[in-house]
Amino acid sequence: MSFEIKPLAAGLYFVATPIGNARDITLRALDILASADVLAAEDTRTLRKLMEIHGIALKDRKIIAYHDHNGERARPGLLKLLNEGKSVAYASEAGTPLIADPGFALCRDALNEGMKVTTAPGPAAFVTALSISGLASDRFLFAGFPPASKGTRRSFFAQFTDLQATLGFYESPKRIHKTLSELCDIYGDNRQAAICRELTKKFEEVRKGTLAELCESLENSPVKGEIVLLVERGSQTVADLEDLEQMIKEQLQTQSVKDVAAEVAEKFGLKRRDVYQKALEIHKGQNEDE
Ligand code: SAM
Repeated sequence: MSFEIKPLAAGLYFVATPIGNARDITLRALDILASADVLAAEDTRTLRKLMEIHGIALKDRKIIAYHDHNGERARPGLLKLLNEGKSVAYASEAGTPLIADPGFALCRDALNEGMKVTTAPGPAAFVTALSISGLASDRFLFAGFPPASKGTRRSFFAQFTDLQATLGFYESPKRIHKTLSELCDIYGDNRQAAICRELTKKFEEVRKGTLAELCESLENSPVKGEIVLLVERGSQTVADLEDLEQMIKEQLQTQSVKDVAAEVAEKFGLKRRDVYQKALEIHKGQNEDE
């Protein structure tokens, strides 16, 4: 037996569960699942199956459902059990509870009522992706699922444009192409990114390239399964304005505004749209002078 049944102090225990491979569970998580007075889960069937795989008996315990659709109704019952001195283990469907998953309100309310709240930490898809993507991991921002509605998506993405941190999004295979093409428009074609899918599972894949390359690759070879999208931080190249203007002026002698914008943006690591505006201003100025 690889877990121990031992008395647990009263309190709420958030238990992280695997994001694919069932063996990515910690021994302590198994101890808690085996020993807690009360089990609660976002998806009761998934937790039951996980416990079966690891040989943990439910005994006379039921698994209480606690998810986004019944949280308001189910929370008072769980808080009552905690107030009665019970140990309550809570697992989300996969990965770490509260990370794009339920648990925040339960945690907040349990803390407000003076309960012990602790966790058996474990996998989270975003951190797993970051650790194998080859993108900078010293500073990162987890942005969760992008909003679905057209009106809010642009401002959602735009708020991170210049952030000096690797960005992480959760995305569905149905929307990943749309998201990448919107990101090309907002962040520019050239930022490095990684589609990290089916992590820890049979078809695990990390597909890397610029935003534009990834967008194109999806057109030829669409992806299935669960996805984390990572995007490189905004460029730190602060172009010297005089150098930039000088280069634009020189190139406008022989090339169109569009071509100049593309070339100069590439060289200085800037967004093509911004350089286009600058090139257009200079071009108009040059025409007025003549
Ligand atoms: N709590 C989870 C965690 O700690 O990562 C996240 C739950 S969220 C509801 C589910 C999303 O996480 C999926 O739609 C996908 O974007 C991402 N995800 C979960 N498992 C994954 C995996 N094995 N590979 C890639 N992405 C995964």
